Amino acid sequence: MKTIGIDLGGTKMSAGLIEGPGTVREKVTLTRPVDQAGMEKDPLKLAARLMGPDVAAIGLGAAGLVSWPDGTLVWGPNVVGRDIPFKDLLESRFGLPTVVDNDANLAALAEARVGAARGRQHVLLVTLGTGIGGGNVIDGKIYRGRSFAGEVGHMVVDVGGPRCTCGQRGCWETFASGRRLDQIARDVAAADPAGRTASLAGSGPAAGIHLTEAAIQGDPPAAQAVGEMGIWLGIGLASLVALLDPEVIVVGGGAARVGDILLDPARQSMMSTLEGSAFREPTPLVAAGLGEDAGIVGAGLVAAELARG
Ligand SMILES: [Zn+2]
Repeated sequence: MKTIGIDLGGTKMSAGLIEGPGTVREKVTLTRPVDQAGMEKDPLKLAARLMGPDVAAIGLGAAGLVSWPDGTLVWGPNVVGRDIPFKDLLESRFGLPTVVDNDANLAALAEARVGAARGRQHVLLVTLGTGIGGGNVIDGKIYRGRSFAGEVGHMVVDVGGPRCTCGQRGCWETFASGRRLDQIARDVAAADPAGRTASLAGSGPAAGIHLTEAAIQGDPPAAQAVGEMGIWLGIGLASLVALLDPEVIVVGGGAARVGDILLDPARQSMMSTLEGSAFREPTPLVAAGLGEDAGIVGAGLVAAELARG
């Protein structure tokens, strides 16, 4: 069976033609739309480019609050557009069964079925994208609460802390996310214009990708800066383990490409912050297995389940 999986993130949107349990046959990407009209139309354009007679269903994940099961993107702190009825729009355009959910929910399911948490029943996924996305699989199923469960990036970890894009202060994602990594990269480059991070950035502004690359190359200041973000990552994860006690936590998003440079400090701070950690098995903290394709693969998987009935 073939499906189309669409992923609407904070900086770009991607769609893939998905076959079987998670094979991406073809992929198309657009930069993030800048207004409501673009947000409504662009995902349909992406789907049209992949559409064929053998496509059985469509899945779409969006970075924000998605009402379930009617599939409306209500709002997202890192995306444009409000109250977009994506499920209705896609169904009326293509006439196929369609499922629309939060992007991290779908990525969590994809990792639990065919990725780094394959075969596990209780899986927490956090993605360090623009912000922090959260998806929770319990007993093998996505847990949504009434609709909006998993907005973990906006757990407040520092009352009165830095302003967040959601309007609150001190949210977890102001301390650990792709956006935070970009800020740290600029600070590291400014502190040492001859250093590795600044050199990798060249004539442009330093960004998280330069900092993580410098850390991977063994640059001590970059590795230390990434590690400090890892400590904040672990502090938030400790609260989530206290609530959910998952079998495994999968960390996705661009920042996770540094692997243990980020995850080792996160493991240590998670367990040192967690209640009763001396009496628990450490919760495995692993890098995502599906990389940036987790969103489209997850959307395709859920669409295939819908088409099978
Ligand atoms: Zn927030």
